[in-house]
Amino acid sequence: MQKIEKFICAGCTLLCDDIEVDLSADHWRPKNTCELGNQYFAQPSSPTQTHFVDGEVATLDQAVKATAQLLRNAKSPLICGLDQLSTEAQQVSWKIADIAGATIDTTFTNHGRSSIFSLQKIGKVTATLGEIGSRSDLVVFWFCDPEITHPRLLERIHRKDKDQPQRILVVGDKETATTKIAHRFIQISKENASELLVRVRGQLTLPSDNKTSASGANFSSATEATASELVKELVDAKYGSIFFEQVTENSRFDSTSDSISRLIRSLNDVTRFVGLKLRTDNNAQSAENVLAWSSGFPFAVNHNLGHPRQHGLEFSAESMLQTQQCDAILFASRLSKSDLVGQLSKSARAHFESIPQIAFSTQAMIANVQFQLGIPGINEAGEYCRIDNISMPVKKIKPNDWMSPETILEEIRQNLVARS
Ligand code: SF4
Repeated sequence: MQKIEKFICAGCTLLCDDIEVDLSADHWRPKNTCELGNQYFAQPSSPTQTHFVDGEVATLDQAVKATAQLLRNAKSPLICGLDQLSTEAQQVSWKIADIAGATIDTTFTNHGRSSIFSLQKIGKVTATLGEIGSRSDLVVFWFCDPEITHPRLLERIHRKDKDQPQRILVVGDKETATTKIAHRFIQISKENASELLVRVRGQLTLPSDNKTSASGANFSSATEATASELVKELVDAKYGSIFFEQVTENSRFDSTSDSISRLIRSLNDVTRFVGLKLRTDNNAQSAENVLAWSSGFPFAVNHNLGHPRQHGLEFSAESMLQTQQCDAILFASRLSKSDLVGQLSKSARAHFESIPQIAFSTQAMIANVQFQLGIPGINEAGEYCRIDNISMPVKKIKPNDWMSPETILEEIRQNLVARS
């Protein structure tokens, strides 16, 4: 009898590791996947790996040499899109940045980075999905809809203790797929969400006889009443978990991450609480780890002076393009080029189009050099970071003899070292 192998789905950052595939079947279909996972595994994948130099099909050796030459010619190369690569490929990318005096960044744009600033300012109290699943009697979803973004999350953290059933509470501005299965939905507008967090913290930290006087004229009585309801739910929990997403587009000043981190700290004076950001930025968490281990900085690291430097978002990929401080770019992307550059500001886009480009991409892309990437978990393997920062070894379902991105990057690195 053919053994049913278990694989990891990389359809979202939950990285479910119980995907069954009967490889003996002519038309295999993965089992245990959600709808998002089904769509992920149904993606078309190319049977052959092709590389291009100046739009012409090239051997790997030619593409590697052309890349090394472009990096050597550049005074200030930029390496970005590490979130699209495995941990191993991210590690080699960092080594290339070090040798080439490049700037290296985790993602292509500044969007969605507020949780890392929050971590640096306030720290975080967090836990693995396993711990949340075995201990959490209250799960709060703050302005997020995991039934759509991470469809098997609730199944993965479901607590089976019948004596203390797990309650699901959603706080948000509208009904969603998750509110339909929640035990309770507290509705509040996005504009009033920060005020609600302040009120909840205020009620938690003040002695009970001061609570009434603290609800000053600046706060609406409706928000104060909502805060009281929420506080009751939160302090009744023996072990609570708060999942959240970035509420505003602002990369640096989204106050939600800060306020939730502070709220979790306050809640730990009363009961036990943890928080987890529902990240959707692929393997960016691993990229932050790799850069932090290697340079001391988790993103946007510049090597122009021969040593790692970081200054907020000054050396982020988007800022380097916007300020025209880079003269060649090596990036990884699983989007089409138009979707990719569509995320950038007009000035960043114009500079991007004007400099030599080296692309690691799943889709055909006009670039000076293009290396073809596989799809993680389908025809590409490597380590990927789960939502709770656990590293997971993703295997290929379709075996192939493709060169992995880390092998290609290592050849580029060796070429740079040999000719330096
Ligand atoms: S929840 Fe995410 S990782 Fe799990 S099967 Fe669905 S898409 Fe794949």
